Amino acid sequence: MASCCFPSSDHCVFCDVTTEKGFNIVYEDNDLIAFHDRAPGAKSHILIIPRKHVGTVKDLGRQHRDLCKQSFIVVLKPLMCKNLSFSQYFLG
Ligand SMILES: [Zn+2]
Repeated sequence: MASCCFPSSDHCVFCDVTTEKGFNIVYEDNDLIAFHDRAPGAKSHILIIPRKHVGTVKDLGRQHRDLCKQSFIVVLKPLMCKNLSFSQYFLG
């Protein structure tokens, strides 16, 4: 039987994304943090997450709409500047 390594639903590994913990952060503001995935699935694999804990995608609601829009803008701008094709990056 699978078990969750995070006993509390209000905290996860992404709540501890810092350079001190070894994450290669490429962007951060008051709402979002973007960093290179430690096990990239493509040439450029950047994860963008909210600063405030969200358990899963299923926990996203209307209140997160602007945050989701902002996250796409934040991550797509640098990818477009690098002129990467869709096959050269992975968004997660
Ligand atoms: Zn979290």
